[in-house]
Amino acid sequence: MPANDKAPAAAPAKVYFTRDLSPAGLMKVFEKVHPAVTGTRIGLKVHFGEEGNAYYIKPALMKDLALSLKATFVETNVLYVGKRRYTDSHIALAKEHGFTYAPIDILDSESTIEYPAKGLKHIKKAIVGSHMANYDTIVVLSHFKGHMGAGFGGAIKNVGMGLGAIAGKMAMHASTIPTVKASKCIKCGVCVPQCPGKAITIEPKVVIDPEKCIGCAKCIGLCPTRVYGVPWGSTDTPAFMEKLVEYAKIISDNKHMVYINVLANISPDCDCMAGAGKPFVKDIGILVSTDMLAIDAASFALVNEATHIKDAFAKHSGVSGKPQLEYGERIGLGTTRYELIDLDKK
Ligand code: SF4
Ligand code: SF4
Repeated sequence: MPANDKAPAAAPAKVYFTRDLSPAGLMKVFEKVHPAVTGTRIGLKVHFGEEGNAYYIKPALMKDLALSLKATFVETNVLYVGKRRYTDSHIALAKEHGFTYAPIDILDSESTIEYPAKGLKHIKKAIVGSHMANYDTIVVLSHFKGHMGAGFGGAIKNVGMGLGAIAGKMAMHASTIPTVKASKCIKCGVCVPQCPGKAITIEPKVVIDPEKCIGCAKCIGLCPTRVYGVPWGSTDTPAFMEKLVEYAKIISDNKHMVYINVLANISPDCDCMAGAGKPFVKDIGILVSTDMLAIDAASFALVNEATHIKDAFAKHSGVSGKPQLEYGERIGLGTTRYELIDLDKK
């Protein structure tokens, strides 16, 4: 090719859309990406909803899909202390929220594995649950809504954060060791032998040696009096978003996935919050794609269009999520060029 000729632009990714927010609507739009599902061991990545959160995607919507795929609900334990931190209480909460008709697999309930990365700015390896190896395809079903750190949470966040194991979540959220409230320590001794870095001493008062701490966040979930905490805010917002996108890239390079975004109950904050704030726009519909970046770009545009605001999440969640899309494009997560195919138009 002559030096002055530009390489032809890649074709836009296809994103399929319906306004029909019913189980039948989901089945209709999913048919468009069904041929991309490979193998028989299908994980359906969902969010079971934090205790008290009203806006997570309800299991009734995805029942026909889950049963037709013979899928297993897959999730990971969270970083902060609560019911979703521990496998037993996480599964119990999922069942309370109605996720009863398919098996549930907490991917990091036993151990973790590492996916290596090359050439990324922040992340050298992604730490994920060992059960990831049990699935041929993961269907990533995401509630598209706001997020106080990422602007919006869609497919990228559901993969990057949602499939990262606890140590991975710590790596994205924090750039320092856990916080320590030494005055709360009752000297039970539980944390010391379980710290993989042998970084904790409790005499004369509890201290973490920053040279030895490997940032696994195990201590945060172990301590009965919550001495240890997540150092929220130790990573600034731009770096947090880049790490999130890098995690999504590494995981999607290692696991076959297709994507569903549900644009309903679009709250300013995420399903991890009991009080996520009232939805700020009317329900929009369901999107599917095989391109993680394209589906989030299309979802972002549809929310902006419905609100008549250039960046609705910057206004309602207080953070613009656009850097997720821009950085995703830069590192080859997918494309923000998409063709929106409206299945409701005759
Ligand atoms: S984060 Fe992990 S390595 Fe660091 S002190 Fe806690 S348990 Fe130990
Ligand atoms: S687990 Fe908590 S209360 Fe027990 S020794 Fe460690 S810091 Fe102190």
